[in-house]
Amino acid sequence: MEKLYEGKAKILYPGAEAGTVRVYFKDEATAFNGQKRGEIAGKGAVNNQVSAALFRHLEAHGVPTHFVRELSEREMLVRRVEIVPLEVIVRNRAAGSFARRYGVEEGRVLPFPLVEFSYKNDALGDPLICEEAALALGLADREGLADIRALALRVNTLLGDYFARRGLELVDFKLEFGRLPEGRLVLADEISPDTMRLWEVGTGERMDKDRFRRDLGGVEEAYQEVLRRVLEEPKPV
Ligand code: UDP
Repeated sequence: MEKLYEGKAKILYPGAEAGTVRVYFKDEATAFNGQKRGEIAGKGAVNNQVSAALFRHLEAHGVPTHFVRELSEREMLVRRVEIVPLEVIVRNRAAGSFARRYGVEEGRVLPFPLVEFSYKNDALGDPLICEEAALALGLADREGLADIRALALRVNTLLGDYFARRGLELVDFKLEFGRLPEGRLVLADEISPDTMRLWEVGTGERMDKDRFRRDLGGVEEAYQEVLRRVLEEPKPV
């Protein structure tokens, strides 16, 4: 089957139904803008199933997404969208690039969930961008940015609660949004341990791609454990 696009972690193929795309999740892993490369056995299957479960949960709570259904262990069917060229990051604690950029210790709880935007542009290394610059470059309009911000914060509330019931803390995550042909904004891409930081409640153990980025070991095991938690019955908190 002819590929529509191949990225670092996924391959897109035309879907069997009009207006759809089949997403295949790979085991390949990259970090630091592609400077670090490797493979995480079973990652594709975990990311597909975690993303599917989270998209279903969000849809059930009123967040529109591109998700249609799972096709196999490693593949899902999604609606074809035009991706808004912004990476939308929500942070509950300082970590990663935020902690480095502002010289604060990783783990500091932020007084409110912070929304940041990066300009999706590989050649430029996805630079941080302020809302005014995004408007000036025509990446989105004011209403679009306001909608994206509100949806991202709603996703933070829903997923923060979802993971808390499974013994994991949602530290930060990255979202991408797209527009359906009729213009409606929907959540797109993936939501997986590649795109979220999840810390074990109590110990702070890293249960996400930081195990790969920082050579912490137990990478495959952490991904499998996140899938297990996502599929398990939630506990009351
Ligand atoms: N993230 C992502 N893709 C990116 C950059 C970041 O999915 O290209 C996610 C990352 O996994 C983390 C959050 O967004 O959950 C914030 O990442 P950060 O800006 O701290 O960058 P990093 O530490 O990954 O360089």
